[in-house]
Amino acid sequence: VDSSDAEYLISRIRSIPDFPSKGVLFRDYLPLMADAKGLQVLMNALEAALPVPADSFDAIAGLEARGFLCGPILAARLNKGFVAVRKAGKLPPATISESYTLEYGQASIEIEDTAVSPGQRVLIFDDLIATGGTAQAAARLIARSGGTVAGYSFVMELEGLGGIEQLGDYPCSSLVTMP
Ligand code: AMP
Repeated sequence: VDSSDAEYLISRIRSIPDFPSKGVLFRDYLPLMADAKGLQVLMNALEAALPVPADSFDAIAGLEARGFLCGPILAARLNKGFVAVRKAGKLPPATISESYTLEYGQASIEIEDTAVSPGQRVLIFDDLIATGGTAQAAARLIARSGGTVAGYSFVMELEGLGGIEQLGDYPCSSLVTMP
């Protein structure tokens, strides 16, 4: 990303200490989306920084909830489909489910079992990667559906947690790194 664009993006991301729990510095990109210029800069940067060429994937899978905001805009710009990866219990049957470990306990995410067709190549999108656990669970869902993960795209990467390294050799992009 162009350094003035990165600066603009960071200037519109709000940081909230101790939310949703003590010790977490929450990075909120809703103010960036609420800003007309911010949304343009963000969408242009996501498109320019795709980790793989647009013709090497068929759909974008966005992670609930913040991956649902820009994921479909990016998909529509690129003429791709959008797959919603939801938190457990929200989708009607039949679903495929994957659990992953959080700092305290476990969580599950799901897709509809017909959302990804066999052979489909899917780019995974979320606002932020921390440990990478959520993104990896999404990758397992796509693999179990018979799809292939083409790569990962994030708006923000949290520094020092090694999230991107956890994703292995997949092509990956994040627009800004947050301390
Ligand atoms: P992880 O699975 O550890 O990579 O966590 C990534 C998921 O948790 C993403 O869906 C993020 O939206 C959310 N998340 C984790 N840490 C933060 C944070 N500090 N600020 C905002 N969202 C976060």
